[in-house]
Amino acid sequence: MSEQSIRHILSLSGGKDSAALAVFMKDKVADIEYVFCDTDKELDETYEYLKKLEVYLGKKITYLRNEERGFDELLQARRGFLPSPQVRWCTQYLKIKPFEKYIGDSVCYNYIGIRADENRKGYISSKQNIIPKYPFIEAGIRKADVVQILEDSGLGLPSYYEWRSRSGCYFCFFQQRIEWVGLYENHRELYDKAMNYERVDPDTGERYTWGSGESLAELMEPERIEEIKKEHERQLEIQKKRAKPNLTLAQVFDEPSDDEDGCLICHL
Ligand code: SF4
Repeated sequence: MSEQSIRHILSLSGGKDSAALAVFMKDKVADIEYVFCDTDKELDETYEYLKKLEVYLGKKITYLRNEERGFDELLQARRGFLPSPQVRWCTQYLKIKPFEKYIGDSVCYNYIGIRADENRKGYISSKQNIIPKYPFIEAGIRKADVVQILEDSGLGLPSYYEWRSRSGCYFCFFQQRIEWVGLYENHRELYDKAMNYERVDPDTGERYTWGSGESLAELMEPERIEEIKKEHERQLEIQKKRAKPNLTLAQVFDEPSDDEDGCLICHL
């Protein structure tokens, strides 16, 4: 297989790392294709950011969807059994399958936005024709560099980073409680929609909730929100005390943070 016939595909998640990678790779590889696996359950801010990115890149982003069944149909087929970190059928059906279908049997380099300061590999297809590439690891690009790349491009960070630490569906179960509070305060209608997915099985009494041990109806109680905010402040204080003094802003961004766990295909 000649190098010329290999496709070059950069998967965007709507998050900062893959967006910065698209900026970084612009003009480095001719005929690069940009794809975004759209669950139809993303935040408006994500779609807006992708539009800005499209203008910057001067190239269309291809939106990939599971054309047979969307999230709601898939959920119905599972009798309301919500996806979770342990049973992540949403990623499988709404992200991986549409991506692999789009690639088909063609050989491609799949550019992935994992940074040099991360210890993970991201989504690796089991299909032999999809070859992962990690340009940020090769170039030693770290978190502070990603922020810098986006600042320099004029794109900045997606606006949801003001209250959320990752990209993905508005109801993503990887959210921390403080991010659910962020959703409640920034997108009340989406919070209500997320809440409507939760239910109790009338026969077994089993609760289907996004988070373990607490429903969204319980979480939105004013006292509970106060408690979550206080706990979040307390955690921030602990982190601040642990932080080394006299760090530059770039070094602060380089400090490990909690935005690196979660779904490896959705949150890059
Ligand atoms: S963002 Fe979260 S809910 Fe959406 S597909 Fe990925 S893991 Fe599932």
